[in-house]
Amino acid sequence: MSQYKYLLFDADETLFDFGKTEAMGLANTFAEFGVEPTTEIIDEYHRYNKSLWRALERGEITKTELKKERFKHIIDMFNFKDADPVLMGERYVYHLGQGCYLLDGATEVVKELSKKYSLSIVTNGVAYVQHTRFDASGLKPYFEGLFISDEMGVQKPEKRFFDIVLETLGASKEECLVIGDSLSSDMKGAHNAGMHKCWFNRTGEPANVDFDIEYEIHNIEDLYQIL
Ligand SMILES: [Mg+2]
Repeated sequence: MSQYKYLLFDADETLFDFGKTEAMGLANTFAEFGVEPTTEIIDEYHRYNKSLWRALERGEITKTELKKERFKHIIDMFNFKDADPVLMGERYVYHLGQGCYLLDGATEVVKELSKKYSLSIVTNGVAYVQHTRFDASGLKPYFEGLFISDEMGVQKPEKRFFDIVLETLGASKEECLVIGDSLSSDMKGAHNAGMHKCWFNRTGEPANVDFDIEYEIHNIEDLYQIL
């Protein structure tokens, strides 16, 4: 038996296949606005969206700005004069909520670990999207907590985010293991909060961080070796 009692899972790209959801969401949104989603447009969206998320994690922009700016950038750059970036952002969030895809092995691992541990989701995702997908996922009965930054007013990697999680669960930081794919939000956040962490390194990239990561896994089933 490990020292942990609480497992704090990131949602996207840790349990949920966000890549698949995102591709479907973008295709449906652009179709509604009569935009042909070329590789150039999709690549530019990904590049710019990623930079906005990093800015959000640094506290430089708000979620509302992110949701609008990522489409405003595409509309301006590719000259789609008639499209409203706020409306496009809203439709995209709607479509994301319709796409619930779990990563391979996620359901089985969650079911198994829920027999021995208290499980929670800790996510920076958009509240509407996370709620609708979590409801549709079939995972809900196995989780004690669903912590969404939008609803907490604070986000990963801020220490306060994890302080609220600890207070709500009645847990100590030593009893928790944070599991996630992101170095900048999940691992950095766990580090800021003084918690142990497990990096779900799905792509085999090097860990370019200035702190220790206790565990690294490449498949979700690898958690059985740790827990
Ligand atoms: Mg993630």
